Amino acid sequence: MTAAGIPRPPIDTRRPHPARVYDWLLGGKDNYPVDQQVGERLPVEARGNAARNRAFMHRAAAWLAQNGADQFLDIGTGIPTEPNLHQIVQAITPGARIVYVDNDPIVLRHAEALLTSSPQGATDFLLADVREPAKILERAGALLDLRRPVALSLIALLHFLPDEENPHALVRTLVEALPSGSHLLLSHGTADQHPELKHQTEAAYKKGEIPLRMRTRAEVEPFFTDLDLLPPGLVFATEWYQEPPAPTRERSGFYVGVARVP
Ligand code: SAH
Repeated sequence: MTAAGIPRPPIDTRRPHPARVYDWLLGGKDNYPVDQQVGERLPVEARGNAARNRAFMHRAAAWLAQNGADQFLDIGTGIPTEPNLHQIVQAITPGARIVYVDNDPIVLRHAEALLTSSPQGATDFLLADVREPAKILERAGALLDLRRPVALSLIALLHFLPDEENPHALVRTLVEALPSGSHLLLSHGTADQHPELKHQTEAAYKKGEIPLRMRTRAEVEPFFTDLDLLPPGLVFATEWYQEPPAPTRERSGFYVGVARVP
């Protein structure tokens, strides 16, 4: 059992898992040799790209909190990496409530680090799969008031869903359950910015038997159908700023966007 009284699920160390590969890319310690092998086969740029994706999450979550968002549903949370989303949000709005969701038992194992809510707010962790949106919404409703706006964050998650899993329909189901004034924060892996790394990236994940479906701009755009995409629109991770950014030539390999539910 964990300190929080949560049963410890078994961790499969024979096969690589996306959460652990991502943890390795961020320089974390919660990964195994099988995950490191995938990380080492990836282009070296993948490490900086993971950090730039995470930095987008920091900026977007802080901006939403500054603009009144006080309920977050974060699906595909990953292994805790400080600062976690609730730490960013509660530093601005101490009473904010955050529900974390991931389908990997290793994230549950580390859930204590996600349950360090401010006393005024609350956090929870659900071991659940984004392919079961109704179940997630029902369970999230225990902590969040789904009649009030919710910020739904799907950061670096959807490229692990092949087309057959119908990720666009899944996102629509989740968004349609949220009231007007809610937000969608999304980031998605792409090879548009560095096509020369596409093959190596796909081959590394394929060898690890992790399904990876990087998408083009035209394939990421429909995730925002019927939503009001906020400035600066659908951009690369290094370009999403609410203040005019310092110009950068840095690439990131992620499309990102924040949209409002009308
Ligand atoms: N959102 C974090 C972590 C991204 S890594 C960040 O951007 O910093 C992607 C995460 O998605 C991993 O933790 C992985 O376990 C999780 N994931 C992958 N497929 C999933 C699914 N079908 N349902 C829920 N979580 C999933």
